[in-house]
Amino acid sequence: MGKYTQTLTELKAGLEQADFTSVELTEELLARISAHDKKLNAMITVTADEALAAAAQADIDRSGGKGGAMCGLPIIHKDIFCTRDIRTTCGSRMLENFISPYDATVVENLAKAGAVVLGKSNMDEFAMGSSNETSFFGPVHNPWDLDCSPGGSSGGSSAAVAARFAPAATATDTGGSIRQPAALTGTIGFKPTYGRVSRYGMIAFASSLDQAGVITRSAEDAALMLGAMAGFDERDSTSIDEPVPDYVAGLGQSVEGLRLGIVRQHFDEGLDAETGARVKNAIATLESMGASTVEVDLPNIDMSVPTYYVVAPAECSSNLSRFDGVRFGHRAENAEDLLDLYCRSRGEGFGDEVKRRIMTGAYVLSAGYYDAYYLKAQQVRQLIADDFRKAFADVDVIVGPTTPSAAFKLGDKVDDPITMYLNDIYTIGANLAGLPAMSVPCGLVGGLPVGLHLVGGHFDEGTLLRVAHQYQLKTDFHQACPEDFK
Ligand code: GLN
Repeated sequence: MGKYTQTLTELKAGLEQADFTSVELTEELLARISAHDKKLNAMITVTADEALAAAAQADIDRSGGKGGAMCGLPIIHKDIFCTRDIRTTCGSRMLENFISPYDATVVENLAKAGAVVLGKSNMDEFAMGSSNETSFFGPVHNPWDLDCSPGGSSGGSSAAVAARFAPAATATDTGGSIRQPAALTGTIGFKPTYGRVSRYGMIAFASSLDQAGVITRSAEDAALMLGAMAGFDERDSTSIDEPVPDYVAGLGQSVEGLRLGIVRQHFDEGLDAETGARVKNAIATLESMGASTVEVDLPNIDMSVPTYYVVAPAECSSNLSRFDGVRFGHRAENAEDLLDLYCRSRGEGFGDEVKRRIMTGAYVLSAGYYDAYYLKAQQVRQLIADDFRKAFADVDVIVGPTTPSAAFKLGDKVDDPITMYLNDIYTIGANLAGLPAMSVPCGLVGGLPVGLHLVGGHFDEGTLLRVAHQYQLKTDFHQACPEDFK
């Protein structure tokens, strides 16, 4: 068996016991990427030379007893994280040739821990999308069925981890972009509490919602990665100065006595019956392990998608104004004057979905509409956050489906933004309220994976990881591997 079948935790043990070197492991995974990525298009940039040099350094550090927590372990970065000297495209023509002069804090922290970066993964343009079809670099294919989407916007990261290109990848989640693709590819997707992981150097979509996290195959691996990424960063004004617990150490405790909240609205007619059955099965498994269930009401949760589609575009229209053809990215040729340069650079550099969001955002923020849309959305966002706060007085974790169904076919929803937006109906609430949340594989529907969604209280990442880890000890859904990538 190749080393690619092993999880991050297993590979860490293998490196520690000197069963293999990081260079050997890195070579194997790079070969796998070059053999299989033509089918998936999961990678935008592969950094083979840099990876091999980092692996060689990690091997030296390890033999000198100096390695960090991730020493010599290969990972992939979503191409939204700035990497010094390696291009960062954010899935856009606008940044097709952009080279950042600095590393994102996430990149820096993982490098300090000794991780080896194999490359940068494909994503929806500026992280706007749920299917990876808005990427300038073309859609990503789902390893479970190449005609299907791997979800988005972190579809490159989710497909790469599901196809065993790397045991772990970074990702970002503004409305579900870690958890939805994780659900659709049978991987773990973990979004921490807003403020837990620095946003410095992570290209901004909607700043009050964006949060960095991970895609892995086990909860244990997510705990290991998160520990290396998280922590206060004075360069991010919304980073929170809270100590980072040892997430791996906390995984062992059982779920006995834990109170699971079930949101009534999450099991209504919008949910595919088979998907709902897998999720209910997973909840029954957790009950058999000693957890109890309580029905919780989130009376305003039905407003989460419309609220998000006012707040997120508003923030994106402001964040993306920096791409003007002057300071960053694509610049149109032969502009007649400055205004023409702005218009043409942005017209050529951005794709349709990004333009749609910028226009919506500019509209809801404009004089005359601000109160009716933006201010109203902020008020509803507060109501949703309050609903969660009340619910967490009675429960420890909220459980339900991550997505309404298993993966859909590429092309199926791309011309219908509203249907596409509804894919995030169960995930967006956690972003609006800033709560940690994750998706855990809980079975297959028609041969395609679906996920159990867990939401926790602020800074209670540990409980989510523990529930998921205990569940994975009892089940083997996360071990299923797509046939062509075994
Ligand atoms: N699918 C959602 C959107 O298109 C969420 C994206 C994200 O989380 N980055 O906005």
